[in-house]
Amino acid sequence: MELEQSAEVRRLAATMASRQTPDFEAWETLMLQAARQGGAGVLGGLLTHWQAHASKEIILCECGQRMSSRGRRAKGLLTTLGPVPFARSFYQCQQCHEGRFPDDERLDILNTTYSPGVRRLMARAGSQTQFEQAAEDLLCYAGLKIEAREIERVAEEVGRQVEQWLSEEQEQIVQTGVSAQPKPEAETKFYVSFDGTGVPVRKSELIGRRGKQADGSARTREAKLGCVFTQVGLDKEGYPQRDPDSTTYVGAIESSTLFGWRMYAEALRRGLEQAKTVVVLTDGQRYNHTIVQTHFSDAVHIVDLFHAYEHLTAIAQLLWGQEAKAPKVWRDLLEPGDISRLVCKAGRQLPIWAKSKKAMLKQLHYFENNALQMRYAEFREKKFFVGSGVIEAGCRTVIGERLKQSGMRWSVRGANAIIALRCCILSGRFEDFWASRTR
Ligand SMILES: [Zn+2]
Repeated sequence: MELEQSAEVRRLAATMASRQTPDFEAWETLMLQAARQGGAGVLGGLLTHWQAHASKEIILCECGQRMSSRGRRAKGLLTTLGPVPFARSFYQCQQCHEGRFPDDERLDILNTTYSPGVRRLMARAGSQTQFEQAAEDLLCYAGLKIEAREIERVAEEVGRQVEQWLSEEQEQIVQTGVSAQPKPEAETKFYVSFDGTGVPVRKSELIGRRGKQADGSARTREAKLGCVFTQVGLDKEGYPQRDPDSTTYVGAIESSTLFGWRMYAEALRRGLEQAKTVVVLTDGQRYNHTIVQTHFSDAVHIVDLFHAYEHLTAIAQLLWGQEAKAPKVWRDLLEPGDISRLVCKAGRQLPIWAKSKKAMLKQLHYFENNALQMRYAEFREKKFFVGSGVIEAGCRTVIGERLKQSGMRWSVRGANAIIALRCCILSGRFEDFWASRTR
């Protein structure tokens, strides 16, 4: 049959080549179609051959009884080469009537009509862009016609498998403290940084939660994202330089306690224990301190300079209105991290209105609470990063670009699956994950 097909293709090719105006793209399309069809035929044959020659094993039920074959059942399989017909034996337990498809189990196609290769493409495409767009991409790039909601279902399923894989790994690393990663070199500076960003969720996910909307309601849930990266040396101007490709991410919509452990496990995996200099960069929220005290007590904790500037501007606005900027005297005190004098100067005059006064005190407390983490002159001297630009860019690329598009409303379960998938892919670990599944 394949021979007939290729003869047909050759005939068609001859007709096309004899035309005066060449249409290269049409030729390509036709050849690709022919290659796929031929390949699907061979793949189908391979499956049948494997089934006929695979060693016959005794199939046992979970209850311990031997299962017997109840004949073959057909199912359509979508592979990267196109649809392939497939039939396999159905086994049933005489005792408890449970059923099994051993061939499906061995081929990694249990409870699915998509081949492993197609599922990998669906997961990748669905993690990259909105599911409708992903469906168009798969049709365009791989000639696969798959509905958007199928991509959503499979991508989220794979995302949950990633999360499962990661959490098993985390548990193991935290318990044994062993990481498979090569040790960071002695002069390497090891950075841990994390931040939160709002993900728009469905109403049902927000019941009883207070938010930032005018009426006190919420529209989003906070996803926490963390990253680990290393710094080797300095650039030409003497500024700290991040190791290219050294950044890995973890994240989820979850409590700060759980997130603390997630962050800690990732740092251990990357070689936290071996690193001589560890820096934690945050934006100075209260829970940041808790995580640092719990998991990174030996690290240098630095509060992002740019967030500090924003808080300084907020104080100026409380005093002098929306357009106000922080005076130079204040900025000159913040730049080296002279926080006690800054708080003195900025707090000299308090607004008259009770509400503004309260807001003002809150801002001043922010500086007081983070004074130790704002010793910028000292940190610069040691050539540390004082800005959390890496994690902020991470929040945009890992979370924002995929989960915060207009009109999106996520379930927490769905969002977490996609976050896990994206963190895994953007950390360059997706192939490891995929390989681990079949082991
Ligand atoms: Zn049974």
